Amino acid sequence: VLASRNKHKIGELQALLRKHVPDVEILSLDDVGIYGEIEENGETFEENAFIKAHTAAKSGYIGIGDDSGLSVNALDGAPGIYSARYAGEHGNDKKNNQKLLADMWGIENRGGAFVCAIACSFPENMANEDFCVRGECRGIVLHEEKGIGGFGYDPLFFVEEYGKTFGELSAEEKNKISHRA
Ligand code: IMP
Repeated sequence: VLASRNKHKIGELQALLRKHVPDVEILSLDDVGIYGEIEENGETFEENAFIKAHTAAKSGYIGIGDDSGLSVNALDGAPGIYSARYAGEHGNDKKNNQKLLADMWGIENRGGAFVCAIACSFPENMANEDFCVRGECRGIVLHEEKGIGGFGYDPLFFVEEYGKTFGELSAEEKNKISHRA
């Protein structure tokens, strides 16, 4: 059970895992009757991923939770776990990008990374098998947006090896090198 109600995310994970486990079936929280908001009150990507995974594992199936965001070196890791609501309003990409540029005004060291933690939580009798993995993709925060692809901070995030921002890469290219990949 993936700790999400987002059909797109469910389908994406199912397609990825089926390459390795052909008959795997990914369920959503709605599918297993777990309703309501999950309170993401962890202090790290890993803690939040585990909070989500543990909630999903209450279904009796294996629970999977993910948490991701952008971590900028010169901002001591911000926006970090607050990436989605950096400018206050949850999921307002435009305002988040504007705030990031304002906070980095005059800063020359613009390195950072997209980070993704994915936790896996097993039902009670196997709970000691729980684990979390972390993926990172390093890049540089530009001074202005470039490209219209992707979402969130993608148009500001420049990957040197490709000479492009995440907003300029195709979905296939991004999915090969991203923090989630
Ligand atoms: P979530 O963990 O999927 O909820 O993502 C948290 C937030 O991190 C998003 O709302 C975005 O602001 C940011 N984020 C995570 N992954 C990406 C990405 O691949 N591109 C751009 N922004 C991202």
